[in-house]
Amino acid sequence: MTNDRPVRVRFAPSPTGMLHIGGARTALFNWAFARSNGGKFILRIEDTDTERNSDESLQSILESMKWLGLDWDEGPQAEGDFGPYYQSQRVDMYQAAIEKGMGEGWLYRCFATADELESQREEARSNKVNWQHDARWRELSANESQAKADAGDAFVIRFRVPVGECVVIKDHIRGEVKFASDEVEDWVAVRSNGMPTYNFVCAIDDSEMQISHVIRGEEHLVNTPKQVMLCQALDMPVPDFAHVPLILGSDGKKLSKRTGDTALGDYIKSGHPDDALFNFLCLLGFAIDDKTTVFSRDELLQNFELKKISKGGALFDTDKLNWICGEYIRNTSVDDLCTAVAPFMVAAGYQLAPELLAKLVTALQPRANLYSHFSEQAAGLVSEVTYDEKAKKELSKEGVLQYLELVAAQLQDGEWPPTDFFDLVKQIASDNEVGVGKVMKPLRCALTGALGGPELADVLNILGREQSISRLAKAGQLV
Ligand code: GLU
Repeated sequence: MTNDRPVRVRFAPSPTGMLHIGGARTALFNWAFARSNGGKFILRIEDTDTERNSDESLQSILESMKWLGLDWDEGPQAEGDFGPYYQSQRVDMYQAAIEKGMGEGWLYRCFATADELESQREEARSNKVNWQHDARWRELSANESQAKADAGDAFVIRFRVPVGECVVIKDHIRGEVKFASDEVEDWVAVRSNGMPTYNFVCAIDDSEMQISHVIRGEEHLVNTPKQVMLCQALDMPVPDFAHVPLILGSDGKKLSKRTGDTALGDYIKSGHPDDALFNFLCLLGFAIDDKTTVFSRDELLQNFELKKISKGGALFDTDKLNWICGEYIRNTSVDDLCTAVAPFMVAAGYQLAPELLAKLVTALQPRANLYSHFSEQAAGLVSEVTYDEKAKKELSKEGVLQYLELVAAQLQDGEWPPTDFFDLVKQIASDNEVGVGKVMKPLRCALTGALGGPELADVLNILGREQSISRLAKAGQLV
C-alpha cells in the first residue's frame, strides 16, 4: 500500500519554541523514511504565526536537528527546486489558491460573528447534533457576498465541505482511515485578517512540494480530511500519510514539562550522547524487532518501515533512556569520550591536562550515563578533597588510622601505579583479623571523600603517588 511517486517527505516545524521531543521524533522518522528509500527529506518552516515566531526558535530547531544528525536535502541553508521553504515567503501561492477557490465556489465568505457561532454550537450541543456551518452564509450568492464585503462587513473564508462524501486516506500506520464529510465542519481557510490558516497552507505546500508521504503526529489526524479535501478541490495529488503515536509521560498522559523535559536542548545541555538520544527517540513507537534495543543508524535504515511504527501511545521511559545512554558511553573510545566530556569539564571549572582527563574518563566510564556525570564525579578526584558526612563517620571508626598509615607506607616505596593494590588491602585486613571492607571503606573515603566512586586502583592512578599519600595523611588527621 504505497503510492509510486518518488519519496519526498517533510518536517514542518513552526518556529514558535524549541524543538521538542515529539517534534524531534517526527523529524527522525521522516529522515529515516527518506534515507531508507533513497528519497528526499525536506525541512519546511511554517512561520505564518508572526506574533509567536522567533529567530531564536528557528536557530535552535536547526541546531537541534543538526545535533541529532538529521540532515535535510531541501530547506533553509540548502538549495532546492521547490522553494521558498519558509511559508512566509509563499503567500503569493496561497493568494492564487484563495482566488481560485472563491472563483470556483469551494471557498466562501462567512460573516457570522464569534458570538453567533458560539450560540449555534451551544444549540447543536444541547440537541446532540454535530454543528457544521451556518447555511445562511454558505448559500449566499457570490454577488451578495461581494456586496457585504465591499460594505466593510468582517468575514472569514471557509472551505465548503462537500455533503455526504467519504474521505479515505492511506495511512501507513493505521491502514485506511475513513472520514464522513458530514462530520467535518466548513473550516476556516482564511482568517478575518486575511491570513490563511495552517490547514490551508499546509495542504497547498505539501502538494506544491510534491510530498509523497506526510509523516506527522497523531494529533494532526483531525486535520487530514480537511487537507485532503483541499487537495481534491485544487485537483492536486493527495499524499499518503503516517500518523505517529503520541508520546506519553510516566503518568500515562501526553508528555509534558511536568513529567519530564520536553525540549531537546535540555537533553543536549544535560550531556546525553547524541547517538544514544537518537536511538531512544527511534524507540518511541518504533521497534526493529521484539528484542533489539540498541542499534546504529545503519541498522535503523536497513530495518526502517512505517508499518513497524505502533498505533498505541509510546511511553517515555526515563530509566530506559539512561540505560541506553550508559550503553553508548561504555561503547565509546576513551579518546572520543574525552572530546565529548571536555566542554562539560570546562563548564564545571576544571582545566585538566589531556593525560589526566583520559585517566579520569577511563575511571568513570563504567559508571557514567551522561557526559555531565564525568564532571559531576570529578569533584574530589581532580580538585581538593572534601569529606561528606558518611565519609567522616567511616573515618572515625576504630583502627582506621592504623590502616591508613600502613597503606601509605606501602604506597611510598612500591611500584607505581600499584598493580597489587587489592592484595595489599587484603593482607592488611587479614593481619588485623578484620574483613576487607573494614580497610577498603575508610581507604576509599580518605582518598575520595565519599563512600562511592570508581575503582580504587583508578583513583590512585588519577591522584598520583604524592597526592594519594598526602590524602591518606590528611584523612588520618581527621580521625
Ligand atoms: N507546523 C505544524 C506543527 O508544527 C506541522 C504539522 C504537519 O506536519 O502538518 O505541528
